[in-house]
Amino acid sequence: MSVAAPYDQQGELDDPARVAAAMRRFADGFGRTVALHLESCVRCGSCAQACHFHRVTGDAKYTPVHKLEPLRRAYQRQASPLAPLLRALGLARAPTIDELRRWQELLYDSCNLCGRCTLICPMGIDIAELVKQARHGMHDAGLVPQRLGLMDRAARHWGSTATPGEDLPDILAEASAQHGVAIPCDLERADLLVTAAPAELTEHTKALADAARILNRLGVRWTMHRDGFDASNIGFNEGDLELQERLTRSLIDTAVKIGAKTLLLPECGHAYGAARWEAARWYGAELPVRILHMTEFLDEEIAAGRIRVRKVGGSATFHDPCQIVRRGGLEAAARRVLAALGFELHELPDHGVTGICCGGGGVVSNLRAAPLRQRVFELKRAQVDATGAEHFVTSCGQCRITLEMGARQAQWRTAPESLLELVADNLAD
Ligand code: SF4
Ligand code: SF4
Repeated sequence: MSVAAPYDQQGELDDPARVAAAMRRFADGFGRTVALHLESCVRCGSCAQACHFHRVTGDAKYTPVHKLEPLRRAYQRQASPLAPLLRALGLARAPTIDELRRWQELLYDSCNLCGRCTLICPMGIDIAELVKQARHGMHDAGLVPQRLGLMDRAARHWGSTATPGEDLPDILAEASAQHGVAIPCDLERADLLVTAAPAELTEHTKALADAARILNRLGVRWTMHRDGFDASNIGFNEGDLELQERLTRSLIDTAVKIGAKTLLLPECGHAYGAARWEAARWYGAELPVRILHMTEFLDEEIAAGRIRVRKVGGSATFHDPCQIVRRGGLEAAARRVLAALGFELHELPDHGVTGICCGGGGVVSNLRAAPLRQRVFELKRAQVDATGAEHFVTSCGQCRITLEMGARQAQWRTAPESLLELVADNLAD
């Protein structure tokens, strides 16, 4: 890479210490699976066309496998079978601080961890997972985009990027009064612990109120709780592994403390990735609670006849959130809910596990990535327009915010709708 790229940095480490910190964390992740993935690339180029950033720019630097280059170099130098020989011959140079700084844009501004490249790769290389591992090193080196770094600090202080836990009762009381629905908080015992995404505690309180409306109608014993309420996980996006685990553990521990058998996640994709799938990997035992995404919950309750909805009718298209559908496996659930609402589904040209990312994830919080994100939005907009559908629905609040931002900037009149809110607005008596 020779072109200057934007970067931010945090902390007081000097340059050699930053490189050393990144290399240490990279090396921590060099297990058998990573080695296999980093050794297997046949340079076929298939991942390039899979990536929306490469697709909208045609710029080779956005080829997914290229984003792994410093990680691959670190692996060759430190952990590959030929590492001692390569080092002795001076053929495996460690990444420099300038390379790590330039790499920041490729790892954060132009990757949503969406996994489309992973799906396409004929060698089964989990590129998205490797990008995530590379972010762990960048975090340790204090080389993450400024806004993500600030959100990380807030979450370390508060357990949430939105608010300290002590403010939760007041926020819920206000949302409760605004929307005319009871939202229980801090109950000592409940069967269901309900969590939120930060936007639901600020500008999207309707989603929270709608979840409450449905749960109250079902008559289940549920609560939100100040000790574990924010399910979105900035550690997951930013590369702070320790924070990621701490945030998820606070949800699970709170559920266990109040005797809840189920932990309900909001319409948030990264919450699902972090809590449902990643937690199972590091928890060290079988998870003590059932962790459900809101879409799974609605699907189950509708199928069981406990939630009944009116037919809305008309046509709808659906944006598949990457972390919920491609990486999370919930392709059919949202479609069953849409069918229950009586929609005729007009699928996007790329849909289901091959759906194109909205461009969000951690990228939506990274202001300097906005122009690139907007180009990705145009890809999605063209696909939605091609369906001619009357409704544009999604099941991830973060995707929705990203798409709303894109729509505002492009003066596009199609407003993305929440699947949860559609269900709540059409509950049958
Ligand atoms: S995970 Fe998604 S955004 Fe990242 S490189 Fe792969 S296709 Fe591109
Ligand atoms: S698709 Fe897989 S094998 Fe082909 S270039 Fe990309 S990472 Fe390498």
